[in-house]
Amino acid sequence: MKAKPQLYGLPAYKPGKPISEVKKELGLDEVIKLASNENPYGSSKLAKQAVIDAVMDSAIYPDGYSSVLRNKVAQHLGVQEEQLIFGNGTDEVIQFLCRAFLTPSDNTVTADPTFSQYKLNAAIEGAEIREVPLTDMGEHNLDEMLQKIDENTKIVWVCNPNNPSGNYIGKDVFEAFLKQVPEHVIVASDEAYIEYTVAEDYPDTIPLLDQYKNLVVLRTFSKAYGLASLRIGYGVASPEIIQVMEPLRPAFNTTAYAHTAAVAALDDQTFVQESAKKNRIELEKYEAFCKKHQLFFYPSQTNFILIDVGIPGDEIFSYLLSKGYITRSGQALGFPTCIRISIGTEKENEGVMLALSELLKERSALTES
Ligand SMILES: *Cc1c(COP(=O)(O)O)cnc(C)c1O
Repeated sequence: MKAKPQLYGLPAYKPGKPISEVKKELGLDEVIKLASNENPYGSSKLAKQAVIDAVMDSAIYPDGYSSVLRNKVAQHLGVQEEQLIFGNGTDEVIQFLCRAFLTPSDNTVTADPTFSQYKLNAAIEGAEIREVPLTDMGEHNLDEMLQKIDENTKIVWVCNPNNPSGNYIGKDVFEAFLKQVPEHVIVASDEAYIEYTVAEDYPDTIPLLDQYKNLVVLRTFSKAYGLASLRIGYGVASPEIIQVMEPLRPAFNTTAYAHTAAVAALDDQTFVQESAKKNRIELEKYEAFCKKHQLFFYPSQTNFILIDVGIPGDEIFSYLLSKGYITRSGQALGFPTCIRISIGTEKENEGVMLALSELLKERSALTES
C-alpha cells in the first residue's frame, strides 16, 4: 500500500486545544481564545437568526450552486455570478486552485512566512514551492517573488494583509506587480482581513479583474463577518478560471446554514463596520503598550498583532495560557521570538497586556539577579 509520495512527511494540521480542555487542565473558570483571528464580538444577530430558521430544513441538501448567496455576493461586489466560486471556507478555494492548476512539473511562488495553506496544498499536488522571505519589516518581497517566476510557475500567492505579520501591500505596488506577472501565472490575492484594513491605499482589486484575467481574489466570512464555524469563503476571478475549477468542487461543499447566514451577514454592514472600528481602537492599545515596553511589533492592518517579545514564542504562549489566554506562538509561524495575538474585546486585551507586563517584569527580575 503506497499513497502519493508527496503525502509522506507532510504534517497533519495541529488544531489548538479546545477551550473546554484548557479549562480542565489549568483549573481555570475562564479561558479566552485569541489564537485564530475570529471576531470577538461574534456575528450579526441577523446571521444567527438565519441559521436558527434554516435548522428546520436540515433534512434537505443545500443548493449546491449557492445561488442565493452567489447573487448576493455578485451584487455586493459588482461582478458577474459566473465570476464566483464558493468554498467550505477560503481554505477550500485555495485547495481548488492548487488542484486545478498545479502538477508535479509546475511550481508556485509564495512569501515566507505566510498563510500555511498555500504551501500545504501545493505540496499535496506535488508542485515545487518557491518561498521568498519577507522583508525585515514583515512585508512581501514582490521583486524577489517576480524573479522566482518562470515558464513553469502557475500560481503566485499574495496574502494582503499578510498572516501572520499583518502588513499590507499598497495599491500602486500591487498594480505594478500585477503588470509584471506573466499572463500564464495566476495571482491569488488573499484578502481574508480586508474588512479590517484602514490604510487609504489598500488596493481595491475587484475592478482589476476586468483587466487581469489571471487575477483571483479570495475573501472569507470567517473573520470580520464572524462566521468561522459555518465555513464559507469564496474566490472571484474571470469566468474562465472559475469554470475550470467548478468540476472539482464537491457538489454540496457549503451548507444551507452558511448560505443563509452569509446573506444575512452581508445585509448587516453596520455590524462589520462596528467590529472593525472597535478592533482598530483595541489594536492601537497594543501598539501603545509595545512602545511603552520597547517591544517591536509588525504594523498590522488586521485583527491580530505580531509582537516580538525577545524570548521564545512557546514561552510567551505558555505564560499567557497559564493566565487563561490562548494565543499563537511565533515559533510555529516562522517568528521564533514573537507571539501572535488576535485582538479581543477591551476587557480581554487589558487582561493580555497585564499578563504580558507581568511576564516582562519577571524576565527582567531574572536577568538583573
Ligand atoms: C483565516 C484566513 C483565511 C480564511 O479561512 P477560512 O477557510 O475561510 O476560514 C484565508 N486566508 C488567510 C490569510 C487567513 O488568515
